Parts: sequence; C-alpha cells; structure tokens
Amino acid sequence: MVVVGSLNVDLVVGLDRMPDPGETVFGTSLARHPGGKGLNQAVAAARLGAQVAMVGAVGSDDGGTWLRSLVEDEGISPTTIAIDAGTSGTAVIEVDDRGMNRIVVIPGANDSLTGDQVTTALDAISDVAVVLAQHEVPMASVGAALRIGRERGAVTILNPAPARAIPDEILRLVDILVPNEHEAALLTDLPTDTLEQAMVAVASLVQRGPRIVVMTRGSQGAIWGSTTETGSVSAFPVHAIDTVAAGDAFCGGLAMALAEGLPIDRALTWAAAAGALATTTAGAVPSLPLRRDVAALIGE
Ligand code: ADP
Repeated sequence: MVVVGSLNVDLVVGLDRMPDPGETVFGTSLARHPGGKGLNQAVAAARLGAQVAMVGAVGSDDGGTWLRSLVEDEGISPTTIAIDAGTSGTAVIEVDDRGMNRIVVIPGANDSLTGDQVTTALDAISDVAVVLAQHEVPMASVGAALRIGRERGAVTILNPAPARAIPDEILRLVDILVPNEHEAALLTDLPTDTLEQAMVAVASLVQRGPRIVVMTRGSQGAIWGSTTETGSVSAFPVHAIDTVAAGDAFCGGLAMALAEGLPIDRALTWAAAAGALATTTAGAVPSLPLRRDVAALIGE
C-alpha cells in the first residue's frame, strides 16, 4: 500500500507563559518530534504489519534527512520521498504551563509536491493495493494519487484533513472518504453533533461521489454509509489520555486491513481498535500501536 502525504518536523517549545508581541521570554524546553498526517498514517499502517511505501517531499535540510531516516527505521522505504531544495515542513508548537498552545505550520517541501512527482513515484511502486492520501499536500498531488490508484485497481482512501473544499471530480475518484465530524460538517455545511445529523451528512457526502463515507466520531466510534448500506463501529472502551493521532491511527489501520483484503466491517474494527489504542499513550508517532496490541484488543 502507498501513503501520499506530508512529513513534518514538529518543534515543541515549552514556556511558562506566551510572549506578548515584541516581547522576548525564555523557554523551558525544546523537543523535536516527527509529524505530518502522511508520515503518521504511513507509520500507523507499517506498525500494524502493512508493506508501506511513502510518497511525499522533504527539504534538503537536517530535518529532511532525519525524517527520511525515521521513516526507514519503521520499515518504510524512503526512496519515493522527494528531496526539495527548500525547508522541510515544520510545525512550531509553543505550549505554556497551563497547557495552552500556539502553532505555526510552515508547509515547506510538502507544498512543493507536484502531481507529476506523485505520478512518477507511484509508477515505481509495485504494490498499490491501497492508496491513502490526506490534505496536507497540494490538491493536484492528491488528485494524481487517487487517479493513478483508480487506474491501477487500488482501493483509494482520502482523509480530508485538515478540512478544505474538495472538487467533485476528486471526490468521484475516492473509494472511501474518512472525515471526522468537524471535517464532514465543513464539507457539507450540515451539523454533525447528533447521530441522526451525522447520518444525514454521511448520506449527503455519498451523493457527491465517494463509494463509502466513514465518519469518525471520537469516543463515539464511527459510522459509515454507501448508496445501498449503512453501518457503525463502536469505540473500544479504553482509558484515553491524549487523542492526538487517533484519526491517523484509524486511517492507517483501515488502509492496512483493506490491503490485506478484509471486508469493510472487519477493516473498520481494526481501524477503531488502532484509534482507541492511540489515545492511551501521549504524542503522535509514539502513540501509534503495534499489530499484536491491536489484535489482542479485538480478540484475534
Ligand atoms: P480525529 O483524530 O481525526 O479527530 P477521532 O477523534 O474521530 O479522529 O478518532 C478516530 C477514531 O479513533 C474514532 O472513530 C474512534 O474509533 C477512535 N477513538 C478516538 N477517541 C477515542 C476514545 N476516547 N476512546 C475510544 N476510541 C477512540
């Protein structure tokens, strides 16, 4: 399977309080973490046992070298990750002692990924049972990924995060659209607070072209629909301490299970279990669960 998406360096700055404009304050800590929805979802699928290739772009800087080596450490070939002349995608995350944060994202190399680069990279990959993309690279690259995925008979999955308008011709290339409640609300202009509202929003998205729409609903699990069927998957009861990357674990789990040929209801069980376990550990990549732990949770 292939993940087409972003790779970021997350720089987390701890400080007692946020500076006012023009003011300098001393920070209390500095940490560097891997991030980006593309990288998170690729690592999620690889830890669950999938053979993953990653298509994306990093900068010609230290961060880019570091991101490629991290990906390789997870068993994901970095050869289809382009090296752009600029900086790697970087998020500067300031967290004060009350836990409030401010985040500046520099898309950097992620924004330079072209449709042609995606096409060339995908042509070099033999296993494209599933193509999984998100919204942190240009829409032209997402479109190219889905189009080639379709041509090669892959299952195409789009996680439309962060929320942004999607042309209908792109939605028609999607087999499984996986928004969370907020993204679904923004895409449809409909409320998604109650189960009934969520089901209406799913049905409305299905009308626009995806074969299946799966809406994740945090601790309420997920619901899905197609033109002929609807279904749901309950959330696994866990002690959640940090929901960062739950959606990424869910998408990676879904892609891995579909690449193994599981039907949608079984694949969603793997996805929900991976999402649940990701909430039991702090951080993004450190929280992504291993196959044996997800298998144990679902009783396999
Ligand atoms: P996102 O991170 O994109 O907002 P969600 O918060 O909807 O995504 O989480 C994705 C999936 O992870 C959910 O559909 C659910 O299956 C699982 N999940 C998330 N939060 C919890 C939780 N507190 N307990 C159990 N499962 C959860």
